[in-house]
Amino acid sequence: MGKNKPGTICVQGGWQPKNGEPRQVPIYQSTTFKYDDSDQMARLFDLKESGYFYTRLANPTNDAVAMKVAQLEGGVAAMLTSSGQAANFFAVFNICEAGDHIVSANTIYGGTYNLFGVTLPKMGIECTFVNPDASDEEIKAAFRPNTKCLFGETISNPGGNVFDIERFANIAHAHGVPLIVDNTFATPVNCRPFEWGADIVTHSTTKYMDGHGTAVGGCIVDSGNFDWMAHADKFPGLCTPDESYHGLTYATAFGKMAYITKATAQLMRDLGSIQSPQNAFLLNMGLESLHVRMQRHCENAQRIAEFLHDDPRVGWINFAGLPDNKYYPLAQKYLPHGGCGVIAFGLKGSREEAIRFMDSLKLISIVTHVADAKTCVLHPASHTHRQLSDEQLREAGIAPDLIRLSVGLEDADDLLADIRQALDAADIKQA
Ligand SMILES: *Cc1c(COP(=O)(O)O)cnc(C)c1O
Repeated sequence: MGKNKPGTICVQGGWQPKNGEPRQVPIYQSTTFKYDDSDQMARLFDLKESGYFYTRLANPTNDAVAMKVAQLEGGVAAMLTSSGQAANFFAVFNICEAGDHIVSANTIYGGTYNLFGVTLPKMGIECTFVNPDASDEEIKAAFRPNTKCLFGETISNPGGNVFDIERFANIAHAHGVPLIVDNTFATPVNCRPFEWGADIVTHSTTKYMDGHGTAVGGCIVDSGNFDWMAHADKFPGLCTPDESYHGLTYATAFGKMAYITKATAQLMRDLGSIQSPQNAFLLNMGLESLHVRMQRHCENAQRIAEFLHDDPRVGWINFAGLPDNKYYPLAQKYLPHGGCGVIAFGLKGSREEAIRFMDSLKLISIVTHVADAKTCVLHPASHTHRQLSDEQLREAGIAPDLIRLSVGLEDADDLLADIRQALDAADIKQA
């Protein structure tokens, strides 16, 4: 299946029923799994045999859907988590412990920014944020001997900046650490970070993958390319015996499957943040049309971005599909078929005009969500990122007047008409 084109994997990947089995992936709504003899159960617990025993660690519905995402990304293994936040936390915590350090782009989702900047330090893991547009030298200067990974988002939420994956992969590898890329906004339909050297990919499946605003979820995919044993001193969790598993060493016992096996057997066992099988089923329904939907999201967003770009009441716009955009060359390289449906822009005038504009929208709704079928709008400074100071906002590349417009799957003519009437109603002075 992995050799097929993404559109085929979206529809059929992950679940290949045998004769007489259900065509659609079934929901294994069961916490436990039965075995005939206690010896086999013991082998499962020792990780000597693969199989299911308790849904806190793994479930067949989840694994079928995770396999589809792994095939889409071109990875060797994947796991579903209860949320995108859990995915990013597990992705980092699987290779870090107290006393370690990570480097992250500062242009990332607000929740991840808090996780890295506030919560990980409470666990003894420090993060240095870097401007991803800084020079190689400046970024390299953030690395320390105890740095364990480099992190960024393919297309940043909410700013819409495009991450130079290949450049960052080279910097990470020069320091003997993996590059973790949050590929939520691009999805593997539009970008596969492993092809550019990323080692681990994460997703908030809550966004385009689900696509209909129905199920919170996350996913971690491993490329299988990072050679943990070559940097064994940096990654003792993978390269030295795990006493909680009878002295088993993940990297030698599981090879390319080591990273996901450890995250499942150890982190899921102890921290328990698995996606419910019901949500995995809904996610799979979304994935079946991901390739069709992404194309429409991008087409609609391109039309609306071009309209906003040319309207004199719009102060600025960041959408990498516009030829005069700073990130257009990177988008041409990494996102040749389009990026995503999210547009960041600011109106002329003050905050009041921005709020009048948003409150005047009729078809387009104000919701704390992004990247689904229904077009929506959000003002990060007063909603998702309200816990950040103005300085942190600017550091994260978010202007206080930034409006995030997530373009959905409606008819673009109707969306444009709604935006036009709301701009009129906002009564913006064109200084
Ligand atoms: C939403 C989002 C997250 C967090 O995902 P949840 O599913 O809401 O926990 C992480 N990264 C990005 C880029 C996101 O857009």
